Amino acid sequence: MQEVKKPKKPLIYYYVIVMAILLLVNFLLMPWMAQNQVQEVDYGTFMTMTENKQIEEVQVDQEENQILFTDRNNNIYKTGMMDDPDLTQRLFDSGAKFSGEIVEHVSPVVSFLVSWILPILIFVGIGQYMSRKMMSKAGGPNSMIFGMGKSNAKVYVKSSEGIRFSDVAGEDEAKENLTEVVDYLHNPSKYKEVGADMPKGILLVGPPGTGKTMLAKAVAGEAGVPFFSMSGSEFVEMFVGMGASKVRDLFKQAKEKAPCIVFIDEIDAIGQKRDGRAGGNDEREQTLNQLLTEMDGFESNNGVIILAATNRPESLDPALTRPGRFDRRVPVELPDLKGREEILRVHAKKVRLDESVDFNKIARMASGASGAELANIINEAALRTVRDGRRYVTQSDLEESIEVVIAGYQKKNAILTDQEKRIVAYHEIGHALVAAKQNHSAPVQKITIVPRTSGALGYTMQVEEGNHYLMLKEELENKIATLTGGRAAEELVFQTSSTGASNDIEQATKLARAMITRYGMSKDFDMVAMETVTNQYLGGDTSLACSAESQAEIDRQVVELVKQQHARAMKILEENRSKLDELAKYLYEKETITGEEFMKILEG
Ligand code: ADP
Repeated sequence: MQEVKKPKKPLIYYYVIVMAILLLVNFLLMPWMAQNQVQEVDYGTFMTMTENKQIEEVQVDQEENQILFTDRNNNIYKTGMMDDPDLTQRLFDSGAKFSGEIVEHVSPVVSFLVSWILPILIFVGIGQYMSRKMMSKAGGPNSMIFGMGKSNAKVYVKSSEGIRFSDVAGEDEAKENLTEVVDYLHNPSKYKEVGADMPKGILLVGPPGTGKTMLAKAVAGEAGVPFFSMSGSEFVEMFVGMGASKVRDLFKQAKEKAPCIVFIDEIDAIGQKRDGRAGGNDEREQTLNQLLTEMDGFESNNGVIILAATNRPESLDPALTRPGRFDRRVPVELPDLKGREEILRVHAKKVRLDESVDFNKIARMASGASGAELANIINEAALRTVRDGRRYVTQSDLEESIEVVIAGYQKKNAILTDQEKRIVAYHEIGHALVAAKQNHSAPVQKITIVPRTSGALGYTMQVEEGNHYLMLKEELENKIATLTGGRAAEELVFQTSSTGASNDIEQATKLARAMITRYGMSKDFDMVAMETVTNQYLGGDTSLACSAESQAEIDRQVVELVKQQHARAMKILEENRSKLDELAKYLYEKETITGEEFMKILEG
C-alpha cells in the first residue's frame, strides 16, 4: 500500500498569483500613489505662488487640460488651465523651469520599495505559510523534508482510564503469555539477575476483531509505560527511504522513553516476504530491512518491547520471525463459548440491562462471532432499545441484534408473492427438519421467513450446545445433509428448484471439499493433503497441491459426497412429509417461529 501525497494545487498556481500581484502593484498601486502625492489647488493660489517666485518647475498638460507644478520643496501641485496668454511670460519672470515629466517624480526610494521589495515580501510570506502548513501535516517543524521522515507514532502515555487486562475478556492464554512482559517491565532487574532475556518482539496473531490491539494497549496499561502505536501501512511513503527513516525515528523515540511498548498494527503491510523479483517494492523492502536492523541493533533488556499484530502470519518474511526478532508468537483466536459470554458481559456493563437477559444463550446463538462483533451486537441492541423508546435492553433486543449483525436488518417493504413465500417456508423447514432428525445436529433456535437486507429471504438459526473442538466425519456429513435439506424440500413439494439455495450449495461444497482434500476423510486419498490453507485467518482460502488427475478425482468425489447427503436429506423429508407440510404451513402463517414451537409440532 503506497501512500502518495499530492500537493493540493500545482506550483504554477502560486506563480500565477505572484505575477498577478506584481502586475497589480505596477499598474494600479504605483499610479495611485503618484496621484495621491499631487495636491490640487485653485488657479489663484497658482498665480500667487508664481508672483511670490515659489515655483520651481512647471508643466502644461494640454491633453488633460491642467497645469502641474512643484514648489521649492519639491511638493507637486495641480491646477486647471485658464485662458491666460501672459502666463508663460510671468512664469519665466518668476524663474520657474519648464519641464515635461513632473508626474513621474515619485520618490525613487518609494518606487523601488513598492515595485520590488513588496512583491518579494509577499512571495516569501506565501512560501512560509505553505511550508508551515505542509510541515504541520507531516509532523512538526524540525522534521526532515517537510517532516516526511518523522515516525508520527501515536503516543499514549499511561492514564488512569487506560485499558487493563480485565477489560479484555476471554483470551486467557494470550493474557497469561503477556503477563510475563508486564512483570518484566515492572521489574527488569529480576530478569537481568538470572540472565534471562525478554523477547524483543512479540507477534499477536489472529483473525480481525479478536482484540489484538486491545491486548497490546492492556500490556502498556498494566505496566504503566508509554505506548507507541503505529500501523504498518503508515511507514510506507511516497519516497523510497522515507519508511526506513520513520522506523529509525520511531526506535529513537522509543529508546528515549524506555521502558515502553511499541505496537505495530498490521505488520504484514511492511513485513511481507521479500520475493527477490527484480523491480519489487523497493520502499517496502527498505523499510523492512531497517526494521530488522533496528531490532538487531538494540540490546535485549533495554526496556523496549515491540508488539506487532497481523492476521496473515504466513505471509511474513522469515527474517522477521526468526529468534532474536519476533520470536514469540501469541495466538489470539476467536473466542469460545465461555469467552463469548465474558466478552458480552464486559461490554454489557455499559448498557442498562433488563433482568431477562441470558448471556449464555446469546453467546450460544452467536457462535463464531469475534469480540468486535459481540461488542457490535450489544451496541445494536442498545440502539434498538432507544429506537423503540424503552429504557432497558431486553433479551429479544439482543437476539434481534444478532440477526442484524449476521443477516442485516429486516426488509420492511420486500413483497414476496404467495408462491415465493410458500417456497421459502418449505425451504427453511426442510433445513430445520433434516437437522432435527439427525441425532448429532444442533437443535434449531429460530426459523424466520422475513426477508433481510443481506438478501436472505429466510433462515434457520442453529445453536451449538457447547464448545466443539473436534468434528466427527458423521457430524460433517450431517451438516452437508442439513444444508441440502432446503433444496430437497423444494424438490419434494414443488417438483422444481429455485435460486434460493445458492449459499447452501456453496457451503456444502466447501465442507465436502475440505473433508476430502484436507481432513483425509476419503478412502482413496488416505492421509494425503491435497490442499493447503493459505489464509487461515482471513476467509481460509486454499490452494491445490496435486496433479491434474487427482483434481479430477477430487471433483468426482465431492459431487458424490454431496449427492449422497442430498439423497439422505430427501429420504428424511419423505419419511416425515406430513410434519413437513404442517410445519411449513405454520411458518408460512406466523413468519417467525422459535425452536420450542418447532419441536412441539414435530413431537406432537
Ligand atoms: P484487532 O486488533 O484484533 O483487529 P481490536 O483489538 O481492535 O481487534 O478489537 C476491536 C474491538 O472489539 C475492541 O475495541 C473491543 O471493543 C472489541 N473486542 C475484541 N476482542 C475483545 C475482548 N476479548 N474483550 C473485549 N472486547 C473485545
